[in-house]
Amino acid sequence: MLENNRSGPVAAVSASGRAPKVLRCADVHGVRCDTEWTAPTVRELVAAAMDHGMAEHGFTAVYYNGPRMTAIRHAVIDS
Ligand SMILES: [Zn+2]
Repeated sequence: MLENNRSGPVAAVSASGRAPKVLRCADVHGVRCDTEWTAPTVRELVAAAMDHGMAEHGFTAVYYNGPRMTAIRHAVIDS
């Protein structure tokens, strides 16, 4: 008897839903601030952080240079 008929079901459970992401001002700007943002995409979080940082903390566009943007993206937490 041959027993090579093993075609088990393939469970393709993908979590590609909209898991909310969180970004905290303190992690972005290194200031004492309790503001945090929740959004489905990193892009929205970064935009919110930039708006907030410039309006509330006096940062300028120069602050948000390439390396800084990378650091900000890395500060995003998957919740
Ligand atoms: Zn802040």
